[in-house]
Amino acid sequence: MISPRMLLALTLSAALVAGCGATDDSAEAPGKEQKKATAKAVPPGCDEAGNDFASDVKLARCLTERFWAKQFTAAGGTYQPIKRFVAYDGTNGPSCGGEKAEPENAFYCSDGHFIAYDAEWMRSMYDQMGDGAVYVVIPHEFGHAVQAQLESGFEYNVEQELQADCYAGATLGGLIADEQIQAEEGDDEELFANLEAVGDPTDAWWEPDAHGTPEKRQEAFATGFDKGVDAC
Ligand SMILES: [Zn+2]
Repeated sequence: MISPRMLLALTLSAALVAGCGATDDSAEAPGKEQKKATAKAVPPGCDEAGNDFASDVKLARCLTERFWAKQFTAAGGTYQPIKRFVAYDGTNGPSCGGEKAEPENAFYCSDGHFIAYDAEWMRSMYDQMGDGAVYVVIPHEFGHAVQAQLESGFEYNVEQELQADCYAGATLGGLIADEQIQAEEGDDEELFANLEAVGDPTDAWWEPDAHGTPEKRQEAFATGFDKGVDAC
């Protein structure tokens, strides 16, 4: 059996980022390029260079929302952008429906339609494991924002979490296929290392806070990456 890691490695051979900037379409014919640049303004954030933590965070947010806007439009719907994107530090995060934000976490809150993340926590993963941290965590949380809009129902929390991982994989796969971001040597390993770091220590999938084991999370991500949103 091919492991999810193999699947991702095969198609990705080398994932993520590098020059994902304002000049996304610049490889095309010069005449066409100019026309495009004036016809379509780049949303703020999507023109980030993605060369440091702060820039990658903005870029990941913008590209992920642009990806979903396109998906919703293609399906005849309208994607609702999140209302706020809140960086917090340890214990000073925004509460969600009366519940306090936890340190070392990122979350989507349907009550207010916002995403918040412990910036120091995410930055430490970024420093340790590379930009894959940002491109796993942020698209995952946007996956929850999409679930809220689709009013997806789940019997178990772990199902909801694994679908968000699948959506995150689909987002990255879509962005790479669309040449919004570029693959770099070793990025597939980074993504998997990040999923491993956020996986549950045991397979108690029935627990209300279960997210899935590292293997399950990697598998879900790879499914989305290889097969797209519909496979999630
Ligand atoms: Zn989640």
